[in-house]
Formats: sequence, structure tokens, C-alpha cells
Amino acid sequence: MNYHFSSRVPKSDVDPVGDILKIAGKPGIISFAGGLPAPELFPVTQIAQATAQVLQEKGRDALQYGSSQGIQELRNVIVDRVKLAGIHTDANHIMVATGSQQTLDLTGKNFLDKGDTVIVERPTYLCAVDVFKSYGAHFAGVNMDDAGMKMAELEQALIDNPSAKLIYTIPNFQNPTGRTMSLARRQKVAELAEKYDVMVLEDNPYGAVRFAGNSLPSIKSFDKSGHVIYMGTFSKILAPGMRLGWIVTETKLLSKYTMMKQSADLHTDNLSQYIVAKYVAMFDINRHIQSICKLYQKRERLMMNAIHKYFPSHVKCSQPEGGMFIWVEIPAIKDTQALFAECIKNNVAFVPGEPFYEDQGDPGNFRLNYSNMCDDQIETGIKRLGAVIKQMINC
Ligand code: PMP
Repeated sequence: MNYHFSSRVPKSDVDPVGDILKIAGKPGIISFAGGLPAPELFPVTQIAQATAQVLQEKGRDALQYGSSQGIQELRNVIVDRVKLAGIHTDANHIMVATGSQQTLDLTGKNFLDKGDTVIVERPTYLCAVDVFKSYGAHFAGVNMDDAGMKMAELEQALIDNPSAKLIYTIPNFQNPTGRTMSLARRQKVAELAEKYDVMVLEDNPYGAVRFAGNSLPSIKSFDKSGHVIYMGTFSKILAPGMRLGWIVTETKLLSKYTMMKQSADLHTDNLSQYIVAKYVAMFDINRHIQSICKLYQKRERLMMNAIHKYFPSHVKCSQPEGGMFIWVEIPAIKDTQALFAECIKNNVAFVPGEPFYEDQGDPGNFRLNYSNMCDDQIETGIKRLGAVIKQMINC
């Protein structure tokens, strides 16, 4: 059978990251490759209690079709959550999405035609690149330092691509680098968006999972002209399996998102929405988030200490103040795939950096995840990884 696919469908069936995760998931391998929250912290008992209450009190509503914008009770909860990022809004400016991944897709649908340019951090969240590519986007990459995207490069990208449709950024504990954009740069991004009349898609899945330093206001909080679309999720603060995300934007744009969502999936799972709204009413979600931060801080410290102990001393690492990832840069390693293959032989895994770039990427970089690994595995895994690195660069 010869299928006549649309131009959106990738020609190749090769899924480099899927293959990496498959190999990394083999028994006996200590894997820092995934990007999963710690499942031992999922509040299973409390979710069961909230579910029982919902079914008892509002079972018929929860099991019925619902509104594309999402239930009012959950949008009210989101109003409170986004206040923590300096966004003062109301439930009318919020749409519930099926995970923030859906917001990426609906943003592609709303803004991108074949050949449009999206400006992205270099490196960036690879599933966002895949989504925008499926709408025919081209990319302009902006390099980062420890304070996020370099503003001079961002402005140059805007000058070079005058019809760019979007700037996509993950300002807090970015995936994959763990880096955080500085306050001054957040202000600047909002300013540039207005000056060059380009939309910013601010993706903030990790912001609440901060275990060091001070919280910073979102880019959206500096947006005076309606150029910033803000997206969040319950995936990292509650449970990714519930598939609940959100979008905050101006009324005129929100109605386009609601329309696009209607044709995508009618609405986000009603039962999940009622359960999370009830969970927040019955329990202290901020206390729950504190317990996530505490555990991730411990694991990040363990990983960083092991890196200092076992990696060659000149290796450069990001210093995350939250989130789930550390980014490692070893320019002396010219073939990250070869490093990966050698590591697999030694029963340890990571994600090589290349797939996170919109272009061919820089060699010698890779992402380590610390949220989903117990203490002794972190020490042992980093020790194995350090030994392979030392052997490959002969030091
Ligand atoms: N954006 C970023 C930067 C992510 O890292 C992820 C998931 N890891 C998502 C969006 C999608 O998350 P979800 O759909 O679970 O909200």
C-alpha cells in the first residue's frame, strides 16, 4: 500500500530520541535520559479521595461533554497559579488545554503557514520543534548563555527575519539546559516583541519547581501590548498522566485557540479537570509542590556533587535552580553518539544534545535528568559516565 500522506508527515520513520529512550530503558541501564517527574510523589491517595468526591457530587457533569475553554472551577485555580508568575488575569482569559503539548500544537495551527519562521532558543524543547515543523515552519536559532537567550542575537534574528511569526522560549529551568532567563532579558523580550510586532510563546512547565534562588516574574507580566502567549501545565506539579495544561492570552486570540481546540478534541478530559479542581480545594497543592522541590533539590545536589567528583575538571555544566535537567558541554567530544554507544556498553544513558537543536547542533553536549532516579543510582551512574568521558578524551 502506497499512502498519500500530507506534507506534514515526516518522510522518514526514524525517531532518534525514541530509539535512545528505548535503548536507555533496557534493564540494568542507569538512565538519565528520560524526562519524567518522580512518580513516588504523585498524590495517589489524595487524587483517589478527590475523584470519589467529584463522582459523588458532580458525577454527571464530570462524565458529560464540556466546554472547549475548560471548566470554570479549574480556570479559577489557574488564575491563582499564574499570579505566582506575576500575571494578574481572570478566568475569561484562560483556556484549559490537553497538556501544554496541545498548546504548542494549537499555536502552530493558529499562526504558522508553510515557510513561516519561528525563532527558538538554541537548544530547545525538541517536541516543540517537531510540532512547528509539522506546520511547515523554518527556524532561526538564538544562542544562549547562563542568563538565557542572548538579546543581541535575538534582535538580529528579528531584523534578519522581519516576518517571523513567533519567538518560542522556556524561561525557567529550560528543557534541555536547565538555564533560567534573567529578569532584564525577560523585560527585553517583551519590549522586542512589541517593537518588531512578533508573538512570544512563553512555555513555563517548570517555573513552580524552583528549589534555589528567587522566583522571577514571567515575560507575560511585562507584556503591555498583547504580544505574549503564556502556557503552563499541571504535569510537573501534580501528574502528567492527567494531561492538563493551560494558556493565558487576550480575549480575541483566546477565541481562536478555543475554536482550534474544538476541532482538535472538543475539550480537555472533563473528569480530570473536575478532579484537579477538587484536589486543590481539598488539599494544599503548594505544600505538595514544596515536597517536589525538596526531593529534586536533593537529587540535583547529589548529581552535581558526583559530577564534580567523577567528571574531568574542565567539563562545563549548567547550574539549575529548579526543574529536572542539567546540561553538560564537553567540546572535546566530537561525536556524542559514540559517547552514548560507549555509555550503553557501560550501562548508563543520557540524551545526546543534537536532537534539541533546530539545526545540526553542537557536538559534545548532552542532557542529564535527575528527577526520576534514586540516590545510589545517581552516584553510580555518574561515576560510570565520568569514566567513559575520561577514556574518550584521554584524561
Ligand atoms: N514544554 C516543555 C518545555 C516540556 O518540557 C514539556 C514536557 N516535558 C512540555 C511542554 C509538554 O508537557 P505537558 O504536555 O505534559 O504539559
